[in-house]
Amino acid sequence: MKIMFAVFTSIFGCVIGSFMNVLIFRIPRKLSIVKPNSFCPRCKNPIPWYENMPVISYIVLGGQCSQCHTPISIQYPLIEIITGGVFLYSFFKFGLSFDFVFHILFFCLLIVISGIDLTHQLIPDVFSFPGIVLGLLFHLINGTILHSVAGLVFGGGLILVIRIIGGKVYKKEVMGMGDVYLCAMIGAFVGFPYIIAAIFIGALSGAVLGIIYIVSTQQGRESAIPFGPFLSIGGISVILFKHLIIKFFATLGIYIQ
Ligand SMILES: [Zn+2]
Repeated sequence: MKIMFAVFTSIFGCVIGSFMNVLIFRIPRKLSIVKPNSFCPRCKNPIPWYENMPVISYIVLGGQCSQCHTPISIQYPLIEIITGGVFLYSFFKFGLSFDFVFHILFFCLLIVISGIDLTHQLIPDVFSFPGIVLGLLFHLINGTILHSVAGLVFGGGLILVIRIIGGKVYKKEVMGMGDVYLCAMIGAFVGFPYIIAAIFIGALSGAVLGIIYIVSTQQGRESAIPFGPFLSIGGISVILFKHLIIKFFATLGIYIQ
């Protein structure tokens, strides 16, 4: 029975992932998210439901539009698989509970924000603001609101300080306000001191992948690499590997729950 629920939850996650793709494509372009139905961005032909099934359609169509044969970005099946994966993880971790709902909402917000930041170097407030409220609400209900407020202030505050100092030193924008709100959102959700680990993992993964990107694409060091997806990786990692982070803080003599 549990396996059936697990299969259903991951399929449902892939379907939601498909909707995440719609949001990533349409929100930065200021298009309606309900009308029209899915269409090929190249030839504008509508995509029928049987060509719009998560992951499966991508494989059946060989990764291209059935009309104009333009390649479909790998982003589509990837986002669907990642969303299906986080749904499955949350199901096994939390069961079909209150925690499950809050966590999948948090993960979905991070996926949409990362997708938009990667493609448009933009973090819309329309996702980060509700995310902040979601994190605060989750901890308010759990009786850990101070933990959440501290995470929010530390996360948002640290990126804001980096933004101000970086702006003065480099005479250009090093962090957008979008990054400040995103880090505040992650802080509100993971709480203090976990937000420190989230920022650290985000910065480290950003540095490593940034170097690989610069070397492999021969781009200059000046090319802008969005920080949102890396902060999101940090936020998700903290939830996935919470027990390891507790152990790590313990080795420093700091005991957290
Ligand atoms: Zn097409």
